[in-house]
Amino acid sequence: MNRRPFNFSAGPAALPEEVLQQVAQEMLDWHGSGMSVMEMSHRGKEFVSICEQAEADLRELLAVPPQFRILFMQGGGLAENAIVPLNLSRGGKVDVVVSGSWSRKSAQEAGRYADVRIAADAKSNGQRAIPAAAEWQLRGDASYVHLCSNETIDGLEFHELPDLKALGCDAPLVIDFSSHVLSRPVDWSRVGLAFGGAQKNIGPAGLTLVIIREDLLGHALPICPSAFDYKTVAEAQSMYNTPPTFSIYVAGLVFQWLKRFEYGGKTGLAAIEQRNIDKATLLYQALDHSALFENRVAPDCRSRMNVPFYLRGTHDTPELNQAFLDEARERQLLQLKGHKSVGGMRASIYNAMSLEGVHALVDFLKDFETRHG
Ligand SMILES: *Cc1c(COP(=O)(O)O)cnc(C)c1O
Repeated sequence: MNRRPFNFSAGPAALPEEVLQQVAQEMLDWHGSGMSVMEMSHRGKEFVSICEQAEADLRELLAVPPQFRILFMQGGGLAENAIVPLNLSRGGKVDVVVSGSWSRKSAQEAGRYADVRIAADAKSNGQRAIPAAAEWQLRGDASYVHLCSNETIDGLEFHELPDLKALGCDAPLVIDFSSHVLSRPVDWSRVGLAFGGAQKNIGPAGLTLVIIREDLLGHALPICPSAFDYKTVAEAQSMYNTPPTFSIYVAGLVFQWLKRFEYGGKTGLAAIEQRNIDKATLLYQALDHSALFENRVAPDCRSRMNVPFYLRGTHDTPELNQAFLDEARERQLLQLKGHKSVGGMRASIYNAMSLEGVHALVDFLKDFETRHG
């Protein structure tokens, strides 16, 4: 078979080819059960074993401590923007650190259920850097503090999570890690709850991951739908209602792929993190050395996963942007168009993207520059 094109989609995003092949092989008959995973009862022993294995593998990969519960839910990141305040706000105060488009949306949605304050806003830095934690306007009596640890559209990433206690704030930290989950470790000592949609770095759309510290369960507002009450979901082992079974199965295969992943003398999450660092370094260096392209994010806030880039100065015309995207597609480099709200281009280089794929993109950037620069 010819090599598949390199797919730079921001999400739903590329999956490891090995996993897709395994899914194809197991499609009609999963492990001699005579059924596709899509056709099984979620309460049968086959699916329960798939689900338990996926949860155990995820716990191992991310080193999730025992006092945290892992929930497999539905609704995506946007639904969590409402489900989190319904469960954690207690109708009180919520402080949000806005570092880009997704955290801005979270603040808006939380405002329907709680008294929201924008504690800091990257807009004050022209959307090029995350405001320093020492400057955040946190309220001592906030129910929780929300941030998006990787802004998928703007390309800003927290390379260290804030220590809220050291900032004089006792509230739990909630992170939206949709677009960089499993690309690096999480410092659970600084987190109360993490959520993420699966379709960027985990598997197919439809699955939403919630990892929550046990003491935060059981505080949902009366209007919270039962299926979205974290305590109800936790007590039912994520089976209060039918979970997204096929997405959980594919995610489980991705977890196994990650566990055996080797790179640079490392295995598992450490290996994928090292490859992510190498891929991002290669791409940002090419952009920084280019006279035609640029990334505008401050180096210490640049995302390893989502790399927005633009044509410089007078080169930035609709025609040249389109020519870039057309030629990229001809070279088997897919889905490089920037988000409609910011324009330009964006390369999403999640876990499944190979180093070879980023080399192919960098070669194309250089080639395009010699012809159009
Ligand atoms: C994609 C994304 C979302 C939205 O997820 P949906 O599944 O479409 O609701 C939320 N937050 C971040 C950081 C994302 O990248």
